[in-house]
Amino acid sequence: MSVATMPRITPEMARELAVEQKVCIRPLLRRVLDQQTGQETRVALPCGSTRESVCPSCADKARRLRIQQCAEGWHRDIEPDAGQPTRESMDDDDDLESADDDLDDSGARRVRSTRRRQDAADLPRVPVEDRTVGRVFETPDGRRYRPSMFVTITLPSYGKVKPNGAPVDPSTYDYRRAALDALHFPKLVDRFWQNLRRCAGFKVQYFAAVEPQKRLAPHLHAAIRGAIPRETIRQVARGPTRRCGGRNLTTRST
Ligand SMILES: [Zn+2]
Repeated sequence: MSVATMPRITPEMARELAVEQKVCIRPLLRRVLDQQTGQETRVALPCGSTRESVCPSCADKARRLRIQQCAEGWHRDIEPDAGQPTRESMDDDDDLESADDDLDDSGARRVRSTRRRQDAADLPRVPVEDRTVGRVFETPDGRRYRPSMFVTITLPSYGKVKPNGAPVDPSTYDYRRAALDALHFPKLVDRFWQNLRRCAGFKVQYFAAVEPQKRLAPHLHAAIRGAIPRETIRQVARGPTRRCGGRNLTTRST
């Protein structure tokens, strides 16, 4: 086939083909320099997005990985990679306040200050054991259980809503608060896990999903590996979260 008669490949065609072949649709091009030969090559790195709307291929891959991690990790009774520092433990900012939790555009810089967390001050502090799996409970007749928990984290009410989620009384409904909470929710949840790990005494692991409630306030469903006293969870949720707009979370656990 000559060049002139070759069909033109449009960006749409390339995208469709990439999705079909489960290849990243928006790879990052990076230059790699071989220090010894001085030769430069270009490599394409997958974007690694977890959102289907951003990259269906990478999101699908991430989802499959999560499913496998969940299936393998949920019931395990020994620590994974014992002795090897995990990303979690290396990143552990015990007692430090994150000045800026967000990565910058290049995804590289992480700014931290050494101020002590104010919102953790009122919470009980227990030594955090270097374990992620939950405790074993043994019955008198020798059966062993390693219970887990299901927790729902919700934001407080802004006023009564109708069955369709619209405010009953728009003049008193706290729209401003609702909007601010929706913005701060990721930070609140982040803080919740950090404080929970301090108070529960082990490196709590979980699987979670954020969903909008009928009133459109976000809430979080989490499956936590290991059992934590309900009062501890309530206390952490109630704990002041001043840097997140002074909001408290409420929880339900089963
Ligand atoms: Zn991708």
